[in-house]
Amino acid sequence: MACGGSRRVRNGSLEGSHLLESSVTDLTPADVEFPTDGFALFPDRSVVALRVNGELKDLATTVTSTDAVEPVTIDSPDGLDILRHSTAHVMAQAVQRIKPQTNLGIGPPITDGFYYDFGTDEPFTPEDVKAIKKEMERIVRENQRFVRRVVSDEEARAELADEPFKLELIGLKGGADKTEGASVEVGAGELTIYDNVNRDGETVWKDLCRGPHVPNTRAIGNGWDIQRIAGAYWRGSEKNPQLQRIYGTAWPSKDELRAYQARLEEAAKRDHRKLGKELDLFSFPDEIGSGLSVWHPKGGIIRQEMEQHALKRHREGGYTYVYTPHITKRDLFIQSNHLVTYKEGMFPPIHLDEERDENGEITKQGVDYYLKPMNCPMHILIYKERGRSYRDLPMRLYENGTVYRYELSGALHGLTRVRGFTQDDSHLFVTPEQLEDEAGRVLEFVLTMLRDFGLTEFELELSMRDDEKSKWIGDEEHWAMATDALRRVAQASGLKLTEVEGEAAFYGPKIDLKTKDALGRTWQLSTVQIDFNLPERFGLEYTGPDGEKHRPVMIHRALFGSAERFFAILLEHYAGAFPVWLSPVQVIGIPVAEEFADYLDGIVDRLRAAGVRAEVDHSADRMQKKIRTHTTQKVPIQLIAGEQDRSQGTVSFRFRDGSQTNGVPVDEAVDRILRAVSDKLLVNTAEDLA
Ligand SMILES: [Zn+2]
Ligand SMILES: [Zn+2]
Repeated sequence: MACGGSRRVRNGSLEGSHLLESSVTDLTPADVEFPTDGFALFPDRSVVALRVNGELKDLATTVTSTDAVEPVTIDSPDGLDILRHSTAHVMAQAVQRIKPQTNLGIGPPITDGFYYDFGTDEPFTPEDVKAIKKEMERIVRENQRFVRRVVSDEEARAELADEPFKLELIGLKGGADKTEGASVEVGAGELTIYDNVNRDGETVWKDLCRGPHVPNTRAIGNGWDIQRIAGAYWRGSEKNPQLQRIYGTAWPSKDELRAYQARLEEAAKRDHRKLGKELDLFSFPDEIGSGLSVWHPKGGIIRQEMEQHALKRHREGGYTYVYTPHITKRDLFIQSNHLVTYKEGMFPPIHLDEERDENGEITKQGVDYYLKPMNCPMHILIYKERGRSYRDLPMRLYENGTVYRYELSGALHGLTRVRGFTQDDSHLFVTPEQLEDEAGRVLEFVLTMLRDFGLTEFELELSMRDDEKSKWIGDEEHWAMATDALRRVAQASGLKLTEVEGEAAFYGPKIDLKTKDALGRTWQLSTVQIDFNLPERFGLEYTGPDGEKHRPVMIHRALFGSAERFFAILLEHYAGAFPVWLSPVQVIGIPVAEEFADYLDGIVDRLRAAGVRAEVDHSADRMQKKIRTHTTQKVPIQLIAGEQDRSQGTVSFRFRDGSQTNGVPVDEAVDRILRAVSDKLLVNTAEDLA
């Protein structure tokens, strides 16, 4: 938050734990008579609302000298929500000015924007959108005030008699949290209507809403836009009428709007679904089914490089690779409890081995088999297959385990949300004494591996248990030990750490690792999850140095998360221009004319013998066309040779950005290329391979 100044006004002095002296004095005049309101307290135009005793309020709210009052500036997270929601009001007013028959649904702020749902017989057209935007501009210029008015249920019903959806919300008051976005309109407590009042003091529009809003429509400025229209069911249920949802975005300034739109454009260009097609990496054939990917040769090369590198690193890290099947009898997931806690996410069972006689009577009961949604129970069975001693621990099992999860088809998204995917899944079995040390090793392992792939920005989140005893299992002592261990491990990493209470799974605390990509977007990647529950459920044991049986602790660790999702993240991060070691084609030879192709073949043969994925383009295309083709395909290194290079035993490099390094002796060229691969260099320009 840009201005988090807290103004606790008591005996004329300023208190407050997170008081920022400068921001408060910047925003507040020296002496204010109480009672007063936000306009007098914070005349700075960037302040659009108040936080009074912890609650968000309109700037017009009356405050007394005993209230703790903080300014909410337009660029703070709360301020942005208020701006965006207020813009949704303006849009709704504009819609009703143009189409008075339209009914109002709800209009909450969302990430980077807002939407408003409308009940209308005809869908909005692009012409409508233009007209709505014009009308919104007019409303902003009219500088209408947002005025809060408390109403009784009866008054609200009378005033909103023509708004069937709003009437329904009045009945929901208090329980509105269950409706997506509806808590914006009616929260717990009193019911309020916001009047839009013009300069002549006339109420020109009103909406049932709990607020708060910016003080007036002019505060909305010109940093907003309408983005798209979609269908949406009223209150998110397909049993309800379908409404028209208009999405918009709003920012404190036009510049910020433009920067946001540029980010969206860049993200669209990098969309992994689009790049996957353009670079011929993977697809989702309809004949196979939703959310099930096939990997084309070029995508397959990248995935194999990822997996091989990971395999090598795991071996060095003391992990052993295991294999487990894709389906299993029901009982395993009963014992693991997945069929209780995770049933919704599993595919329905396959019923096998049932036998019947000629009358159709069952003579042998069948068995239900399930596609596995998790690998953990199978790794546990490997542990359990024989007696274990403390000398066997830590035991680090690792598998690229393909799992199947029943995601709703509407929730599927490219490679990031699929129905079948391969986890780089590891389960570590440790003694309680080894837990901290091993968790530290795991985190270090995860970080170094992600850095191998060129990711550099990380932060950690430590999920701790809920205070409520019913929400977790195991004893307090174990939890405290494991949580403290994870905290120390996270702190030792030196990365930014956020601790969140109540976010842990019921069976143990965890560390989540998030990374930022080239566009500054945050992705949740790896998880280090402590588990006291499954060792208990499966009765896992090891014999300690004392000769007694003890229970091991499990660590679940996904590093990439899934190969599919991690690949998608890398693809977008690099916009398809991968580091040399991951590029499907690393080197392409382009002869200036066909007579120089033999010369390039000789160089490319040397590279291939050294394991480089190198080819010569022997097509009939002219050189310029070849250069364009392979630049579009994001091949990192183009080797070009003509008469001069051939006669001098050299070759010329051309890079993705069009830069060149000419006349490099062949031996040196080969060395440079091998170094680019082995050092995992990202080579986009001549300087990257000097
Ligand atoms: Zn509102
Ligand atoms: Zn697991």
